[in-house]
Amino acid sequence: MQLDQASTEQLRQWESALSAEYEQFKAAGLNLDLTRGKPSGEQLSLSDAVLDILGRDLSNETNTDLRNYGGIDGLPECKRLFAPVLGVKDSEILIGGNSSLSLMYSAALYALHMGFGDLGEAWAKESGSVKFLCPVPGYDRHFGVCEHLGIDMIPVAMDDNGPDMDQVEALLKADPSIKGIWCVPRFSNPTGIVYSDEVVARIAKLGSIAGKNFRVFWDNAYAVHQLSEDAPQLASLMDKCREFGTENSVYLFGSTSKITYAGAGVAFAGMSEANLKAFKQHLGMSQIGPDKINQLRHVRLLQDSDGLHAHMRAHASVLKPRFDIVLKHLDDGFGDNELLSWTAPEGGYFVSVDTLPGLAKKVVAMAAAAGVKLTPAGATFPYGNDPEDRNIRIAPSVPSLEEIDKAMAVFVNCVKLASVQQRLG
Ligand code: PMP
Repeated sequence: MQLDQASTEQLRQWESALSAEYEQFKAAGLNLDLTRGKPSGEQLSLSDAVLDILGRDLSNETNTDLRNYGGIDGLPECKRLFAPVLGVKDSEILIGGNSSLSLMYSAALYALHMGFGDLGEAWAKESGSVKFLCPVPGYDRHFGVCEHLGIDMIPVAMDDNGPDMDQVEALLKADPSIKGIWCVPRFSNPTGIVYSDEVVARIAKLGSIAGKNFRVFWDNAYAVHQLSEDAPQLASLMDKCREFGTENSVYLFGSTSKITYAGAGVAFAGMSEANLKAFKQHLGMSQIGPDKINQLRHVRLLQDSDGLHAHMRAHASVLKPRFDIVLKHLDDGFGDNELLSWTAPEGGYFVSVDTLPGLAKKVVAMAAAAGVKLTPAGATFPYGNDPEDRNIRIAPSVPSLEEIDKAMAVFVNCVKLASVQQRLG
């Protein structure tokens, strides 16, 4: 289907065939949902041993009574388990509660209003607005944190290697009110790309371009979430920072939300010891300590890096067939034409697609009318504004294989029909 070479007659024929197919989908009364990146029930069940793994045995390395208050930065055995996930030392990690997003929110809030102890003034104490760089397309909840805290967002382009670093460096040099950048460096949400070694090194160097209260928010939510063994690895940001003496310019985050239970897992933050000291002082004002019993459950379940990776292979065997169906529909529908472009991710939770300019909202609305819910177009951009109206995020983890197959058939039809209609004018 090559639109630019087609005659009006040919376009009309395509339109009528695609419309007929679309009406059939509508009549089928489908109710399918490809919106949020959540683990499926089958994936959650992989971790059910966590529910009774402790029995009443709370023995732990430091003989702490885990039923009691204390230990703001978490259990040492849990730090040892998750420090390698972030690529930091055991002394550079804090194990928190159930949500990395809430650690990120707190980190941004402390930085905005309370500052970094000896390491820098609160952003809000400087005159003018506070701004973050937002590689796009990106994660809507990151943008939500900024909006909620009144931090202005500047979109930055991304390619297959990560953010456009020429643009990032130029913006930072020109504007000292830029205080942070959001990054999802491995299996980025939503494009699934992995930051190249060169990009990681350039991000590690940002701390030497920006002021001392600039922080990279390195949300490594999908650090161990590969779909196959040969998926690309990510360089350690903290190791790179050590080379350049910029360790204080980065905050790293992760969680087990998509390893064990989403909402009942364990979240963690990696940062230099100096940053950690200031962060813990602020955190200690709002809580006495995290749920250490849940941390111990996680250590017993996953045990060590080998245990963690074996567990993630089990997730991959549930997820990969779902991604394969999505990609097959995209290949079959658009492999020989320009109507849609996409990235084939090797991990994470999403497939990100770009329609022809001006069609994403229309496609999402058409799919919804045919019973297929997609993430609202624009959600992957700051302020919900995709200037070209092209990007759509597909999240195939929850529906069954059969449901994904049906939903993708509808999606392909909607993209083709919308494109032909646009061409016809
Ligand atoms: N970061 C990214 C990039 C995510 O995709 C998600 C979940 N969708 C989160 C953070 C949320 O993590 P948590 O459950 O640990 O708050």
